[in-house]
Amino acid sequence: MSSDHRIYSYSAVLMGSPILLKLYSHNEALAAQVFRLIKQYEDLLTVNRTPSQVMEINHAAGRHPVTVSRPVFELIRCAKAASLVPGSAFNLAIGPLVKRWKIGFKGDSVPPAQEIAALLALTSPAEVCLDEEAGSVFLTRPGMEIDLGAIAKGYIADRVRDYLRKAGETAALINLGGNVQTLGSPEGGWTVGLKKPFSEGEALVGALVVSDKSVVTSGTYERYFERDGKRYHHILDPRTGYPLDNELDSVTVISTDSLDGDIWTTLLYGMGVAKGCAALRARPDIEAIFVTRSQEVILSSARHFRFTLLDNTFRLTDNTV
Ligand code: ADP
Ligand code: MG
Repeated sequence: MSSDHRIYSYSAVLMGSPILLKLYSHNEALAAQVFRLIKQYEDLLTVNRTPSQVMEINHAAGRHPVTVSRPVFELIRCAKAASLVPGSAFNLAIGPLVKRWKIGFKGDSVPPAQEIAALLALTSPAEVCLDEEAGSVFLTRPGMEIDLGAIAKGYIADRVRDYLRKAGETAALINLGGNVQTLGSPEGGWTVGLKKPFSEGEALVGALVVSDKSVVTSGTYERYFERDGKRYHHILDPRTGYPLDNELDSVTVISTDSLDGDIWTTLLYGMGVAKGCAALRARPDIEAIFVTRSQEVILSSARHFRFTLLDNTFRLTDNTV
């Protein structure tokens, strides 16, 4: 008998993405509460429309600190710490560049080099000042903007998991589009597909099986535009101001918290396969699957998941270090 017999799926469109919730009980009221929770967090964290607390911080740049709610403060603190790691490809203050490139939105264009240089000067994470006691955030220069687009979904996925656990659910899955978070281990684990980069529809490179883990994928194929035969995707290199350019088509991170998955997909994009695998040796709690342009699938390790290759045009390698 298929395990699907006991799974109930609920869907909604939030944060511009289709959201999928799977429960092991038929509970529409709980699903509605989960979608409401997601909407509440989106309203705090978005930078794409007002009012949100993050938008308030950005609007007050160079003028005054803004007191925010505790979860927003904690998330910004965590994002700042990840941004300050030497050589980090993650930068919460990348906003002015994201807004200028408009990748994945109407009006995208390649900015002139001088403009990129000028905007880079407005992206220093050290100039995001946090006042612990007041719970406030101050961007010291006018024009600075924080952008939590790379981590908001991960943070929210973790809150949904916590909420479901508290509600007494023992098995559930939430898919926020790129971020999957799972609770429990129904019939040996949850299966999560690994998308084939740049393919139409639902083609998969492979499938993972996980329990109580988050699976986050970030890919250059998700949002990009092409100009003069060159592809510009939505993960920017905070050191250059241009899209990160390396051998990777996607990075998937398996971790307990989806927030870590979000931060690490960006960090690993910046490092590439060799440096990324080396860095993960110090982090047994974080594992990655790299998919390269040359159709290699590389596992940093596979302690907390099982992986099956489904597309034989790809080559699977593990333990590269
Ligand atoms: P998605 O899952 O929506 O495709 P990602 O998690 O891959 O997105 O994050 C990409 C988003 O993060 C961009 O759209 C932008 O808002 C923001 N961003 C882009 N480059 C960086 C960076 N170097 N550091 C932090 N955030 C970034
Ligand atoms: Mg992300």
